[in-house]
Amino acid sequence: MAETDSRRGDTTRLTVIGSGDAFTGCGCNAAYLVDDRVLIDCGAPVQVMLPRAGVAVASLDLVVITHFHADHTYMLPMLLGARAFVGELRPGLTIGGPPGTREYVLRLLTTGYGHHLVGLIEERLRPRWLLLQDAVSETVAGYTVGAHAVLHSTGPSLAYTVQRGEGPVIGFSGDSALCAGLRRTIATSDLMVCECTGWDAPAEGGHLWRGELEELIAAYPATRFVLSHLRTRGTVPGAIIAHDLLALDVAAPQASGPPR
Ligand SMILES: [Zn+2]
Repeated sequence: MAETDSRRGDTTRLTVIGSGDAFTGCGCNAAYLVDDRVLIDCGAPVQVMLPRAGVAVASLDLVVITHFHADHTYMLPMLLGARAFVGELRPGLTIGGPPGTREYVLRLLTTGYGHHLVGLIEERLRPRWLLLQDAVSETVAGYTVGAHAVLHSTGPSLAYTVQRGEGPVIGFSGDSALCAGLRRTIATSDLMVCECTGWDAPAEGGHLWRGELEELIAAYPATRFVLSHLRTRGTVPGAIIAHDLLALDVAAPQASGPPR
């Protein structure tokens, strides 16, 4: 765990909350934190893991989800319940994602808790809903989120870039096959959190594997890679292999660096 203050200077802190794929238990399911403000996906028990990273659930301004698979979303009811009923009450959390996100999240909540508790959560949190789709860029609480459509499953899937002010751009692949939207996300990111589900062979189900990551790392030398959504762990030259609660302070690129 790095020791510098994530909000100091031009660095942005990335914390990997969950580094594992859907089923192997290699790590918690997908969730990533930018500084203490923006959460990407909610497959991990975020209400448990954030305090372990020294972050209060109440500090989140924005939660975005990449797609509607369980390993990226099924802890949302616990996070929203924790936000509504534990500790400091801070209304106005923004929840963003592909078209259908509001209906999907309310369905998850209703299935998990029933209408009465969902009404209480909505009343206390007053969530704002943010529609994200390909080529859309939105700024919430000083963080600009850019969305790129990627190929994964039959439902909508988005990769994101997140940037605070003029700070470094951090990319998130979500789950994605090798596609143009993924390449656009990598090309505009200083640091890319990329799924690497397959290790020794191509992965089924619209995922990336190690051989494709090695090609991408060679093709985008200005981008640092963090490999996550892991089925197993090993080494890949030029990449950081994620683990749960890995924290990195990412510096802004030098103005004299190569054009991006
Ligand atoms: Zn996944």
